Amino acid sequence: MLTEFRNEPFTDFHKKENEDAMKAAIEKVRACFGKSYPLLIGGKEISTGDEMISTNPGNPKEVIGKFSKASVKEADLALEEASKAFAKWRLVAPHERARFLFKAAAIMRARKHELSALICLEIGKNWAEADGDTAEAIDFCEFYGREMIRLSQPQPLTAYSGEENELSYIPLGVGLVVPPWNFPLAILVGMVTASIVSGNTVLVKPSSETPMIAYTFCKIMEECGLPPGVLNFVPGPGSSVGDHLVGHPKTRFIAFTGSKEVGLRINELAAKAQPGQLWIKRVVAEMGGKDSIVVDKDADLESAADGIVAAAFGFQGQKCSACSRAIIHQDVYDEVLKRVKEKTEKLKVGPCDQRDVNMGPVASKSAYESILEYIEVGKKEGKVAAGGGPVEGNNGGFFIMPTVIADVDPMARISQEEIFGPVLAVIKAKDWTNALDIANNTEFGLTGAVYSKNREHIEQARRDFHVGNLYLNRKCTGALVGVHPFGGFNMSGTDSKAGGKDYLLLFMQGKSVSEKF
Ligand code: NAP
Repeated sequence: MLTEFRNEPFTDFHKKENEDAMKAAIEKVRACFGKSYPLLIGGKEISTGDEMISTNPGNPKEVIGKFSKASVKEADLALEEASKAFAKWRLVAPHERARFLFKAAAIMRARKHELSALICLEIGKNWAEADGDTAEAIDFCEFYGREMIRLSQPQPLTAYSGEENELSYIPLGVGLVVPPWNFPLAILVGMVTASIVSGNTVLVKPSSETPMIAYTFCKIMEECGLPPGVLNFVPGPGSSVGDHLVGHPKTRFIAFTGSKEVGLRINELAAKAQPGQLWIKRVVAEMGGKDSIVVDKDADLESAADGIVAAAFGFQGQKCSACSRAIIHQDVYDEVLKRVKEKTEKLKVGPCDQRDVNMGPVASKSAYESILEYIEVGKKEGKVAAGGGPVEGNNGGFFIMPTVIADVDPMARISQEEIFGPVLAVIKAKDWTNALDIANNTEFGLTGAVYSKNREHIEQARRDFHVGNLYLNRKCTGALVGVHPFGGFNMSGTDSKAGGKDYLLLFMQGKSVSEKF
Protein backbone atom coordinates (compact mmCIF):
# COMPACT_ATOMS: atom_id res chain seq x y z
CA MET A 1 0.00 0.00 0.00
CA LEU A 2 1.17 3.49 -0.80
CA THR A 3 1.97 5.39 2.40
CA GLU A 4 0.96 8.99 2.99
CA PHE A 5 3.34 11.62 1.57
CA ARG A 6 6.06 12.76 4.01
CA ASN A 7 8.87 15.23 3.30
CA GLU A 8 12.31 13.74 2.85
CA PRO A 9 14.38 14.42 6.00
CA PHE A 10 17.47 16.63 5.72
CA THR A 11 20.95 15.28 6.44
CA ASP A 12 22.81 16.33 9.59
CA PHE A 13 26.36 16.81 8.34
CA HIS A 14 27.64 17.30 11.90
CA LYS A 15 27.33 13.53 12.27
CA LYS A 16 30.63 11.95 11.35
CA GLU A 17 29.13 9.21 9.18
CA ASN A 18 27.21 11.76 7.09
CA GLU A 19 30.21 14.03 6.75
CA ASP A 20 32.35 11.09 5.61
CA ALA A 21 29.68 9.96 3.15
CA MET A 22 29.47 13.44 1.62
CA LYS A 23 33.26 13.74 1.34
CA ALA A 24 33.36 10.36 -0.41
CA ALA A 25 30.57 11.47 -2.77
CA ILE A 26 32.47 14.64 -3.68
CA GLU A 27 35.57 12.57 -4.49
CA LYS A 28 33.48 10.10 -6.47
CA VAL A 29 31.79 12.70 -8.69
CA ARG A 30 35.06 14.62 -9.13
CA ALA A 31 36.76 11.52 -10.46
CA CYS A 32 34.29 11.54 -13.39
CA PHE A 33 34.62 15.23 -14.31
CA GLY A 34 35.74 16.47 -17.72
CA LYS A 35 33.90 13.93 -19.90
CA SER A 36 31.70 14.66 -22.91
CA TYR A 37 27.96 14.02 -22.79
CA PRO A 38 25.48 13.58 -25.65
CA LEU A 39 21.91 14.70 -26.17
CA LEU A 40 19.29 12.07 -25.25
CA ILE A 41 16.56 11.93 -27.87
CA GLY A 42 14.07 9.13 -28.38
CA GLY A 43 16.23 6.80 -26.26
CA LYS A 44 19.31 7.46 -28.41
CA GLU A 45 22.52 9.30 -27.57
CA ILE A 46 23.38 11.96 -30.15
CA SER A 47 26.63 13.92 -30.18
CA THR A 48 26.60 17.09 -32.23
CA GLY A 49 30.29 17.98 -32.05
CA ASP A 50 29.36 21.48 -30.90
CA GLU A 51 29.90 21.49 -27.13
CA MET A 52 29.32 23.83 -24.23
CA ILE A 53 31.42 23.49 -21.12
CA SER A 54 30.12 23.41 -17.57
CA THR A 55 32.62 24.55 -14.92
CA ASN A 56 32.80 24.88 -11.15
CA PRO A 57 32.01 28.51 -10.23
CA GLY A 58 34.27 28.13 -7.17
CA ASN A 59 37.17 27.18 -9.44
CA PRO A 60 36.35 27.92 -13.08
CA LYS A 61 39.37 25.93 -14.26
CA GLU A 62 37.66 22.77 -13.07
CA VAL A 63 35.58 21.37 -15.95
CA ILE A 64 32.53 19.47 -14.76
CA GLY A 65 31.57 18.19 -18.22
CA LYS A 66 31.25 19.03 -21.88
CA PHE A 67 27.79 18.89 -23.36
CA SER A 68 26.67 18.52 -26.93
CA LYS A 69 24.50 21.46 -27.89
CA ALA A 70 21.28 20.82 -29.76
CA SER A 71 20.73 22.85 -32.90
CA VAL A 72 17.35 23.44 -34.52
CA LYS A 73 17.76 20.10 -36.34
CA GLU A 74 18.05 18.05 -33.12
CA ALA A 75 15.35 20.14 -31.45
CA ASP A 76 12.97 19.20 -34.29
CA LEU A 77 13.98 15.56 -34.04
CA ALA A 78 13.30 15.60 -30.30
CA LEU A 79 9.84 17.07 -30.92
CA GLU A 80 9.12 14.31 -33.42
CA GLU A 81 10.28 11.58 -31.04
CA ALA A 82 8.29 13.08 -28.18
CA SER A 83 5.19 13.25 -30.40
CA LYS A 84 5.60 9.58 -31.34
CA ALA A 85 6.11 8.58 -27.71
CA PHE A 86 3.03 10.58 -26.66
CA ALA A 87 0.75 8.36 -28.73
CA LYS A 88 1.55 5.44 -26.39
CA TRP A 89 2.50 7.18 -23.15
CA ARG A 90 -0.86 8.97 -22.84
CA LEU A 91 -2.52 5.54 -22.63
CA VAL A 92 -0.29 4.22 -19.82
CA ALA A 93 -2.35 3.94 -16.64
CA PRO A 94 -1.79 6.80 -14.15
CA HIS A 95 -0.73 4.31 -11.42
CA GLU A 96 1.89 2.92 -13.76
CA ARG A 97 3.17 6.36 -14.65
CA ALA A 98 3.35 7.26 -10.96
CA ARG A 99 5.53 4.21 -10.28
CA PHE A 100 8.27 5.65 -12.51
CA LEU A 101 8.36 8.62 -10.15
CA PHE A 102 8.44 6.44 -7.03
CA LYS A 103 11.27 4.43 -8.53
CA ALA A 104 13.17 7.63 -9.42
CA ALA A 105 12.70 8.84 -5.82
CA ALA A 106 14.17 5.58 -4.53
CA ILE A 107 17.20 5.86 -6.81
CA MET A 108 17.76 9.49 -5.86
CA ARG A 109 17.46 8.62 -2.16
CA ALA A 110 20.09 5.91 -2.56
CA ARG A 111 22.38 8.32 -4.47
CA LYS A 112 21.49 11.41 -2.44
CA HIS A 113 24.98 12.57 -1.52
CA GLU A 114 26.26 12.01 -5.03
CA LEU A 115 23.53 14.28 -6.43
CA SER A 116 24.17 16.86 -3.71
CA ALA A 117 27.92 16.72 -4.41
CA LEU A 118 27.23 17.55 -8.06
CA ILE A 119 25.07 20.49 -6.98
CA CYS A 120 27.87 21.75 -4.68
CA LEU A 121 30.43 21.64 -7.46
CA GLU A 122 28.44 22.59 -10.55
CA ILE A 123 26.59 25.57 -9.06
CA GLY A 124 28.19 26.33 -5.68
CA LYS A 125 25.63 25.35 -3.05
CA ASN A 126 26.94 24.56 0.41
CA TRP A 127 26.25 21.06 1.71
CA ALA A 128 23.03 21.86 3.55
CA GLU A 129 21.57 23.82 0.62
CA ALA A 130 22.51 21.07 -1.84
CA ASP A 131 21.01 18.43 0.44
CA GLY A 132 17.80 20.51 0.57
CA ASP A 133 17.72 20.69 -3.23
CA THR A 134 18.04 16.90 -3.53
CA ALA A 135 15.45 16.29 -0.81
CA GLU A 136 13.00 18.58 -2.61
CA ALA A 137 13.53 16.69 -5.88
CA ILE A 138 12.69 13.43 -4.08
CA ASP A 139 9.63 15.11 -2.54
CA PHE A 140 8.35 16.21 -5.95
CA CYS A 141 8.51 12.63 -7.24
CA GLU A 142 6.71 11.23 -4.21
CA PHE A 143 4.13 14.01 -4.10
CA TYR A 144 3.22 14.25 -7.80
CA GLY A 145 3.06 10.46 -8.11
CA ARG A 146 0.43 10.39 -5.36
CA GLU A 147 -1.36 13.41 -6.81
CA MET A 148 -1.72 11.73 -10.20
CA ILE A 149 -3.24 8.68 -8.55
CA ARG A 150 -5.68 10.94 -6.68
CA LEU A 151 -6.65 12.84 -9.83
CA SER A 152 -7.19 9.63 -11.79
CA GLN A 153 -10.07 8.66 -9.47
CA PRO A 154 -13.65 9.42 -10.63
CA GLN A 155 -14.33 13.14 -10.19
CA PRO A 156 -17.49 14.13 -8.31
CA LEU A 157 -20.37 15.41 -10.49
CA THR A 158 -24.01 16.25 -9.91
CA ALA A 159 -26.32 13.29 -10.68
CA TYR A 160 -28.57 13.63 -13.74
CA SER A 161 -31.27 11.14 -14.45
CA GLY A 162 -30.97 8.99 -17.60
CA GLU A 163 -27.31 9.78 -18.20
CA GLU A 164 -23.96 8.52 -17.10
CA ASN A 165 -21.62 11.49 -16.69
CA GLU A 166 -17.90 11.48 -16.17
CA LEU A 167 -15.10 14.03 -15.89
CA SER A 168 -11.53 12.86 -16.30
CA TYR A 169 -8.19 14.57 -16.74
CA ILE A 170 -6.22 13.81 -19.84
CA PRO A 171 -2.73 15.00 -20.84
CA LEU A 172 -1.98 17.95 -23.10
CA GLY A 173 0.70 16.61 -25.46
CA VAL A 174 4.38 17.45 -25.97
CA GLY A 175 5.79 20.00 -23.56
CA LEU A 176 8.97 22.01 -23.23
CA VAL A 177 10.51 22.21 -19.76
CA VAL A 178 12.88 25.13 -19.16
CA PRO A 179 14.37 25.21 -15.65
CA PRO A 180 16.76 27.72 -14.04
CA TRP A 181 20.15 26.91 -12.51
CA ASN A 182 19.37 27.92 -8.96
CA PHE A 183 17.51 24.75 -7.94
CA PRO A 184 19.20 22.72 -10.63
CA LEU A 185 17.76 19.42 -9.48
CA ALA A 186 14.56 20.21 -7.58
CA ILE A 187 12.91 22.62 -10.02
CA LEU A 188 13.89 20.56 -13.06
CA VAL A 189 12.62 17.37 -11.45
CA GLY A 190 9.43 19.09 -10.30
CA MET A 191 8.51 20.41 -13.75
CA VAL A 192 9.58 17.23 -15.60
CA THR A 193 7.85 14.77 -13.29
CA ALA A 194 4.63 16.82 -13.12
CA SER A 195 4.56 16.83 -16.94
CA ILE A 196 5.23 13.15 -17.51
CA VAL A 197 3.16 11.73 -14.67
CA SER A 198 0.22 13.64 -16.15
CA GLY A 199 0.72 11.67 -19.38
CA ASN A 200 2.66 14.22 -21.44
CA THR A 201 6.03 13.73 -23.09
CA VAL A 202 8.70 16.39 -22.77
CA LEU A 203 11.86 18.00 -23.99
CA VAL A 204 13.98 19.42 -21.22
CA LYS A 205 16.25 22.29 -22.16
CA PRO A 206 18.40 22.62 -19.04
CA SER A 207 20.06 25.82 -17.91
CA SER A 208 23.41 26.19 -19.66
CA GLU A 209 24.95 26.58 -16.16
CA THR A 210 23.85 23.17 -14.88
CA PRO A 211 23.62 20.56 -17.65
CA MET A 212 25.46 17.90 -15.62
CA ILE A 213 22.79 17.72 -12.95
CA ALA A 214 20.06 17.68 -15.60
CA TYR A 215 21.79 14.91 -17.54
CA THR A 216 22.24 12.83 -14.38
CA PHE A 217 18.51 13.04 -13.67
CA CYS A 218 17.60 12.08 -17.26
CA LYS A 219 19.84 9.01 -16.90
CA ILE A 220 18.08 8.14 -13.65
CA MET A 221 14.75 8.19 -15.48
CA GLU A 222 16.26 5.95 -18.15
CA GLU A 223 17.38 3.58 -15.38
CA CYS A 224 13.76 3.55 -14.15
CA GLY A 225 12.77 2.11 -17.53
CA LEU A 226 10.93 5.20 -18.80
CA PRO A 227 9.99 4.47 -22.44
CA PRO A 228 12.19 6.18 -25.08
CA GLY A 229 10.99 9.60 -26.20
CA VAL A 230 8.99 10.37 -23.05
CA LEU A 231 11.84 12.52 -21.69
CA ASN A 232 14.34 14.07 -24.09
CA PHE A 233 17.45 15.98 -23.04
CA VAL A 234 18.20 18.90 -25.41
CA PRO A 235 20.70 21.35 -23.93
CA GLY A 236 21.53 24.47 -25.91
CA PRO A 237 21.40 28.23 -25.65
CA GLY A 238 18.02 29.56 -24.58
CA SER A 239 18.22 32.32 -27.14
CA SER A 240 18.38 29.91 -30.12
CA VAL A 241 17.14 26.40 -29.38
CA GLY A 242 14.85 27.73 -26.61
CA ASP A 243 13.18 30.29 -28.85
CA HIS A 244 12.76 27.74 -31.64
CA LEU A 245 11.08 25.20 -29.39
CA VAL A 246 8.82 27.76 -27.72
CA GLY A 247 7.61 28.97 -31.11
CA HIS A 248 7.22 25.53 -32.70
CA PRO A 249 3.62 24.58 -33.63
CA LYS A 250 4.06 21.06 -32.18
CA THR A 251 4.88 22.38 -28.70
CA ARG A 252 1.68 22.10 -26.67
CA PHE A 253 2.86 23.65 -23.38
CA ILE A 254 5.87 25.28 -21.81
CA ALA A 255 6.82 24.91 -18.16
CA PHE A 256 9.32 27.63 -17.39
CA THR A 257 11.03 28.85 -14.24
CA GLY A 258 13.53 31.69 -14.51
CA SER A 259 13.83 35.42 -14.86
CA LYS A 260 11.02 37.87 -15.56
CA GLU A 261 12.61 38.95 -18.85
CA VAL A 262 12.82 35.42 -20.28
CA GLY A 263 9.43 34.43 -18.86
CA LEU A 264 7.72 37.37 -20.56
CA ARG A 265 9.50 36.62 -23.83
CA ILE A 266 8.36 32.99 -23.71
CA ASN A 267 4.81 34.06 -22.89
CA GLU A 268 4.76 36.45 -25.85
CA LEU A 269 6.31 34.01 -28.35
CA ALA A 270 4.05 31.19 -27.22
CA ALA A 271 0.95 33.35 -27.59
CA LYS A 272 1.45 33.72 -31.35
CA ALA A 273 -0.22 30.86 -33.21
CA GLN A 274 2.00 29.40 -35.94
CA PRO A 275 0.78 27.93 -39.24
CA GLY A 276 -0.45 24.39 -38.59
CA GLN A 277 -0.77 24.92 -34.83
CA LEU A 278 -3.88 23.27 -33.41
CA TRP A 279 -3.99 24.71 -29.90
CA ILE A 280 -3.44 27.69 -27.67
CA LYS A 281 -0.14 26.90 -25.97
CA ARG A 282 -0.28 26.74 -22.23
CA VAL A 283 2.49 28.59 -20.41
CA VAL A 284 3.38 27.98 -16.79
CA ALA A 285 5.92 30.69 -15.96
CA GLU A 286 7.41 31.14 -12.52
CA MET A 287 9.67 34.18 -12.48
CA GLY A 288 11.68 36.57 -10.31
CA GLY A 289 11.15 38.17 -6.95
CA LYS A 290 12.12 41.13 -4.81
CA ASP A 291 11.18 39.74 -1.47
CA SER A 292 10.91 41.62 1.82
CA ILE A 293 11.03 40.83 5.49
CA VAL A 294 9.13 43.40 7.56
CA VAL A 295 10.13 43.89 11.20
CA ASP A 296 7.49 45.49 13.42
CA LYS A 297 8.43 47.49 16.51
CA ASP A 298 7.40 44.80 19.00
CA ALA A 299 8.94 41.85 17.12
CA ASP A 300 11.36 39.32 18.57
CA LEU A 301 14.39 41.16 17.22
CA GLU A 302 16.88 38.32 17.55
CA SER A 303 14.66 35.93 15.68
CA ALA A 304 13.99 38.61 13.02
CA ALA A 305 17.72 39.24 12.53
CA ASP A 306 18.37 35.50 12.27
CA GLY A 307 15.59 35.15 9.69
CA ILE A 308 16.82 38.12 7.63
CA VAL A 309 20.41 36.89 7.49
CA ALA A 310 19.45 33.29 6.67
CA ALA A 311 17.00 34.35 3.94
CA ALA A 312 19.27 37.05 2.47
CA PHE A 313 22.44 35.00 2.22
CA GLY A 314 21.41 31.34 1.93
CA PHE A 315 22.84 30.12 -1.42
CA GLN A 316 24.40 33.58 -1.81
CA GLY A 317 20.99 35.23 -2.13
CA GLN A 318 20.37 33.37 -5.40
CA LYS A 319 16.88 32.17 -4.54
CA CYS A 320 13.74 33.64 -6.04
CA SER A 321 12.46 33.69 -2.45
CA ALA A 322 15.58 35.36 -0.98
CA CYS A 323 15.11 38.32 1.34
CA SER A 324 16.59 41.20 -0.61
CA ARG A 325 14.89 43.93 1.41
CA ALA A 326 14.59 44.26 5.20
CA ILE A 327 11.94 46.84 6.03
CA ILE A 328 12.29 47.83 9.66
CA HIS A 329 10.12 49.99 11.93
CA GLN A 330 12.09 53.10 12.87
CA ASP A 331 11.84 52.37 16.62
CA VAL A 332 13.88 49.17 16.27
CA TYR A 333 15.83 50.00 13.10
CA ASP A 334 19.26 50.62 14.68
CA GLU A 335 19.05 47.54 16.89
CA VAL A 336 18.00 45.18 14.08
CA LEU A 337 20.61 46.62 11.70
CA LYS A 338 23.31 46.12 14.34
CA ARG A 339 22.33 42.48 14.83
CA VAL A 340 22.05 41.81 11.08
CA LYS A 341 25.50 43.34 10.53
CA GLU A 342 27.08 41.24 13.33
CA LYS A 343 25.54 38.01 12.07
CA THR A 344 26.43 38.77 8.45
CA GLU A 345 30.06 39.41 9.31
CA LYS A 346 30.30 35.96 10.92
CA LEU A 347 29.35 34.15 7.68
CA LYS A 348 32.12 32.10 6.15
CA VAL A 349 32.55 32.34 2.38
CA GLY A 350 34.46 29.59 0.60
CA PRO A 351 34.47 26.64 -1.79
CA CYS A 352 31.64 24.15 -1.44
CA ASP A 353 33.73 21.01 -1.24
CA GLN A 354 34.22 21.94 2.42
CA ARG A 355 31.61 21.24 5.10
CA ASP A 356 31.57 24.38 7.23
CA VAL A 357 31.01 27.00 4.53
CA ASN A 358 27.99 29.29 4.84
CA MET A 359 28.27 30.82 1.38
CA GLY A 360 29.85 29.50 -1.80
CA PRO A 361 30.59 31.31 -5.05
CA VAL A 362 27.90 32.99 -7.13
CA ALA A 363 26.80 31.04 -10.18
CA SER A 364 28.87 32.46 -13.03
CA LYS A 365 31.15 35.21 -14.24
CA SER A 366 28.19 37.16 -15.60
CA ALA A 367 26.32 36.85 -12.28
CA TYR A 368 29.50 37.93 -10.44
CA GLU A 369 29.91 41.03 -12.60
CA SER A 370 26.26 41.98 -12.45
CA ILE A 371 26.12 41.63 -8.62
CA LEU A 372 29.31 43.67 -8.14
CA GLU A 373 27.82 46.38 -10.35
CA TYR A 374 24.70 46.43 -8.18
CA ILE A 375 26.91 46.74 -5.09
CA GLU A 376 28.47 49.86 -6.64
CA VAL A 377 24.98 51.22 -7.32
CA GLY A 378 24.08 50.37 -3.73
CA LYS A 379 27.06 52.33 -2.40
CA LYS A 380 25.52 55.45 -3.96
CA GLU A 381 22.00 54.59 -2.82
CA GLY A 382 22.81 53.82 0.83
CA LYS A 383 25.58 53.11 3.36
CA VAL A 384 27.50 49.85 3.30
CA ALA A 385 26.99 48.24 6.72
CA ALA A 386 28.70 44.91 5.91
CA GLY A 387 30.65 43.43 2.99
CA GLY A 388 30.69 45.53 -0.14
CA GLY A 389 32.81 43.70 -2.71
CA PRO A 390 34.47 40.50 -3.93
CA VAL A 391 36.33 38.04 -1.73
CA GLU A 392 39.94 38.09 -2.89
CA GLY A 393 42.41 35.22 -3.30
CA ASN A 394 40.09 32.40 -4.25
CA ASN A 395 41.32 30.40 -7.22
CA GLY A 396 39.54 32.66 -9.68
CA GLY A 397 36.20 31.61 -8.16
CA PHE A 398 33.24 33.97 -8.14
CA PHE A 399 33.10 34.76 -4.43
CA ILE A 400 31.35 37.86 -3.12
CA MET A 401 31.06 39.12 0.47
CA PRO A 402 27.59 39.06 1.98
CA THR A 403 26.67 42.72 1.66
CA VAL A 404 24.28 44.82 3.72
CA ILE A 405 23.39 48.30 2.50
CA ALA A 406 21.55 50.45 5.02
CA ASP A 407 19.36 53.54 4.74
CA VAL A 408 18.09 52.68 1.29
CA ASP A 409 15.18 54.61 -0.21
CA PRO A 410 12.17 52.35 -0.98
CA MET A 411 12.25 53.42 -4.64
CA ALA A 412 16.03 53.04 -5.09
CA ARG A 413 17.20 50.63 -7.78
CA ILE A 414 18.58 48.14 -5.26
CA SER A 415 15.20 48.20 -3.56
CA GLN A 416 13.26 47.58 -6.79
CA GLU A 417 15.33 45.41 -9.15
CA GLU A 418 16.07 41.72 -8.65
CA ILE A 419 19.82 41.47 -7.99
CA PHE A 420 19.92 37.72 -7.40
CA GLY A 421 23.01 37.79 -5.24
CA PRO A 422 24.15 38.34 -1.64
CA VAL A 423 23.00 41.95 -1.35
CA LEU A 424 20.49 43.09 1.26
CA ALA A 425 18.89 46.55 1.18
CA VAL A 426 17.79 47.79 4.61
CA ILE A 427 14.96 50.29 4.60
CA LYS A 428 13.58 52.36 7.50
CA ALA A 429 9.79 52.54 7.84
CA LYS A 430 8.01 55.34 9.69
CA ASP A 431 5.40 53.00 11.13
CA TRP A 432 3.64 49.67 10.47
CA THR A 433 1.38 51.03 7.69
CA ASN A 434 4.34 52.58 5.93
CA ALA A 435 6.26 49.29 6.27
CA LEU A 436 3.47 47.31 4.61
CA ASP A 437 3.15 49.91 1.84
CA ILE A 438 6.86 49.63 1.11
CA ALA A 439 6.65 45.83 1.12
CA ASN A 440 4.01 46.02 -1.64
CA ASN A 441 5.75 48.67 -3.74
CA THR A 442 7.54 46.49 -6.35
CA GLU A 443 6.26 44.87 -9.53
CA PHE A 444 6.91 41.43 -8.00
CA GLY A 445 4.87 39.43 -5.50
CA LEU A 446 6.63 36.17 -4.71
CA THR A 447 7.50 35.74 -1.03
CA GLY A 448 7.47 37.96 2.03
CA ALA A 449 7.69 37.70 5.79
CA VAL A 450 6.57 39.70 8.81
CA TYR A 451 8.00 39.55 12.30
CA SER A 452 5.47 40.99 14.74
CA LYS A 453 3.72 40.21 18.03
CA ASN A 454 0.81 42.49 17.19
CA ARG A 455 -2.18 40.26 16.31
CA GLU A 456 -3.96 43.03 14.41
CA HIS A 457 -0.88 43.66 12.27
CA ILE A 458 -0.43 39.94 11.62
CA GLU A 459 -4.03 39.67 10.44
CA GLN A 460 -3.63 42.74 8.25
CA ALA A 461 -0.48 41.24 6.69
CA ARG A 462 -2.43 38.05 5.91
CA ARG A 463 -4.93 40.16 3.98
CA ASP A 464 -2.85 42.94 2.47
CA PHE A 465 0.74 41.75 1.98
CA HIS A 466 0.31 40.81 -1.69
CA VAL A 467 2.63 37.86 -2.24
CA GLY A 468 2.08 34.25 -3.26
CA ASN A 469 3.97 32.91 -0.23
CA LEU A 470 3.68 34.84 3.01
CA TYR A 471 5.48 33.79 6.18
CA LEU A 472 4.67 35.12 9.65
CA ASN A 473 7.36 35.16 12.33
CA ARG A 474 9.68 33.01 10.20
CA LYS A 475 12.00 33.56 7.27
CA CYS A 476 10.74 33.85 3.69
CA THR A 477 12.80 31.00 2.17
CA GLY A 478 12.60 27.23 2.54
CA ALA A 479 9.23 26.26 1.07
CA LEU A 480 8.51 22.54 1.46
CA VAL A 481 6.65 20.38 -1.03
CA GLY A 482 3.09 19.70 0.13
CA VAL A 483 3.50 22.12 3.05
CA HIS A 484 3.99 25.48 1.32
CA PRO A 485 2.68 25.30 -2.29
CA PHE A 486 4.89 27.77 -4.12
CA GLY A 487 4.30 30.48 -6.73
CA GLY A 488 4.10 34.23 -7.04
CA PHE A 489 1.79 37.08 -8.01
CA ASN A 490 2.24 39.97 -10.46
CA MET A 491 5.54 39.86 -12.38
CA SER A 492 6.66 36.91 -10.26
CA GLY A 493 4.68 34.59 -12.49
CA THR A 494 1.56 32.59 -13.05
CA ASP A 495 1.20 31.50 -9.41
CA SER A 496 1.34 27.82 -10.35
CA LYS A 497 1.78 26.67 -6.73
CA ALA A 498 4.40 24.02 -7.35
CA GLY A 499 4.28 21.30 -4.72
CA GLY A 500 0.57 21.90 -4.17
CA LYS A 501 -2.58 19.97 -4.95
CA ASP A 502 -3.59 22.20 -7.88
CA TYR A 503 -0.28 21.91 -9.72
CA LEU A 504 -0.84 18.84 -11.92
CA LEU A 505 -4.03 20.31 -13.34
CA LEU A 506 -1.82 22.79 -15.21
CA PHE A 507 -0.46 19.86 -17.21
CA MET A 508 -3.82 18.32 -18.08
CA GLN A 509 -7.20 19.13 -19.58
CA GLY A 510 -10.55 17.98 -18.24
CA LYS A 511 -12.69 15.84 -20.52
CA SER A 512 -16.38 15.59 -19.78
CA VAL A 513 -18.22 12.57 -21.23
CA SER A 514 -21.98 12.11 -21.09
CA GLU A 515 -23.82 8.98 -22.26
CA LYS A 516 -27.61 8.92 -22.50
CA PHE A 517 -29.20 5.57 -21.80
P1 NAP B 1 16.95 32.76 -16.92
O1 NAP B 1 18.15 33.46 -17.38
O2 NAP B 1 15.63 33.36 -17.21
O3 NAP B 1 17.03 31.28 -17.53
C1 NAP B 1 16.08 30.30 -17.20
C2 NAP B 1 16.05 29.26 -18.29
O4 NAP B 1 15.54 29.86 -19.48
C3 NAP B 1 17.42 28.71 -18.66
O5 NAP B 1 17.30 27.34 -18.93
C4 NAP B 1 17.75 29.48 -19.92
O6 NAP B 1 18.66 28.82 -20.76
C5 NAP B 1 16.40 29.55 -20.56
N1 NAP B 1 16.23 30.56 -21.59
C6 NAP B 1 16.89 31.72 -21.75
N2 NAP B 1 16.41 32.39 -22.83
C7 NAP B 1 15.43 31.62 -23.36
C8 NAP B 1 14.55 31.74 -24.47
N3 NAP B 1 14.59 32.82 -25.25
N4 NAP B 1 13.68 30.75 -24.73
C9 NAP B 1 13.63 29.65 -23.93
N5 NAP B 1 14.44 29.48 -22.88
C10 NAP B 1 15.31 30.44 -22.59
O7 NAP B 1 16.98 32.52 -15.34
P2 NAP B 1 18.15 31.90 -14.46
O8 NAP B 1 19.26 32.90 -14.40
O9 NAP B 1 18.45 30.53 -14.90
O10 NAP B 1 17.45 31.76 -13.04
C11 NAP B 1 17.31 32.83 -12.15
C12 NAP B 1 15.94 33.45 -12.23
O11 NAP B 1 14.96 32.45 -11.97
C13 NAP B 1 15.71 34.52 -11.18
O12 NAP B 1 15.01 35.59 -11.75
C14 NAP B 1 14.84 33.82 -10.14
O13 NAP B 1 14.05 34.68 -9.36
C15 NAP B 1 14.02 32.94 -11.00
N6 NAP B 1 13.46 31.81 -10.26
C16 NAP B 1 12.11 31.83 -10.00
C17 NAP B 1 11.55 30.80 -9.26
C18 NAP B 1 10.08 30.79 -8.95
O14 NAP B 1 9.57 29.76 -8.52
N7 NAP B 1 9.38 31.90 -9.13
C19 NAP B 1 12.35 29.75 -8.80
C20 NAP B 1 13.72 29.76 -9.10
C21 NAP B 1 14.26 30.80 -9.85
P3 NAP B 1 20.19 29.26 -20.84
O15 NAP B 1 20.78 28.93 -19.53
O16 NAP B 1 20.72 28.46 -21.96
O17 NAP B 1 20.17 30.76 -21.11
